[in-house]
Amino acid sequence: MLEGKVALVTGASRGIGRAIAVKLAKEGADVVINYVSNEESALRVQEEIKSFGRKAYIFRCDVAKREELEALVDFTIEKLGKIDILVNNAGIVRYNTITGMTDSEWSDVLNTNLTGMFNLCQLVAPHMIKQNSGKIVNISSLAAVKMLPASYSYTASKAGVAAFTKVLGTELIANNISVNAIAPGIIITDMLDTLGDAAEAYKQQVPAKRFCEAEEVAELAYFLCQDISRYIVGQTIVIDGGLSL
Ligand code: NAP
Repeated sequence: MLEGKVALVTGASRGIGRAIAVKLAKEGADVVINYVSNEESALRVQEEIKSFGRKAYIFRCDVAKREELEALVDFTIEKLGKIDILVNNAGIVRYNTITGMTDSEWSDVLNTNLTGMFNLCQLVAPHMIKQNSGKIVNISSLAAVKMLPASYSYTASKAGVAAFTKVLGTELIANNISVNAIAPGIIITDMLDTLGDAAEAYKQQVPAKRFCEAEEVAELAYFLCQDISRYIVGQTIVIDGGLSL
């Protein structure tokens, strides 16, 4: 379904981003795999994607730095000629109390999760507008919908992603570009470790009585990257086993 398409996925070396990059490639897309520090993991994703016949490149870039995002976009255009699909997935979380939260625990999360997404959308949009087509999937979080204790910067960033997605979605649909977001509940990735002992208590609260696999989020991302979903505009779709209800 995605033959001939080019996808750029941020934070694709591990977790949800990795699952999305692999899924899009399995469906026919060539992929640029962004990572920030974990080159070994990024190389493993590249090998996996190449093994089923797609082109795959890795590119190190900190999404919190605009000049590095410019280099990421230039690299993608140079190697693959265009960008049909952008998945803004790279993200970090820091937990602290209101009195304990440091400047960097606030600003690092906002710069990575929200400003990084804004900058990359701004850099990629001209290419999509020129070709009069495109799909953008932003990864928000259940934290944007349901209170997550001590997650001040994370919640602010992810609610920002959902709100930003509405505005961008309504602007770019006139250019045949679909912009939507996904709000995952609790997904089995390295980020789950940040919940520590609280994880088990959360599992009991999930009506589905289990956490979600990254591959299930990837299936939803794939749906949003196909033409069949083109009338969905600026939405944030929750995938959480019922936890938000
Ligand atoms: P993860 O397993 O911790 O992986 C994070 C990925 O983001 C890695 O590929 C990492 O690269 C990359 N990354 C981190 N900071 C970056 C930066 N500054 N620049 C570029 N790449 C960066 O996380 P995950 O659980 O898959 O989460 C992916 C997204 O889903 C995040 O936006 C997260 O907020 C969201 N989400 C996750 C959950 C969950 O339960 N897991 C729930 C809701 C939303 P390296 O490997 O190089 O470090």
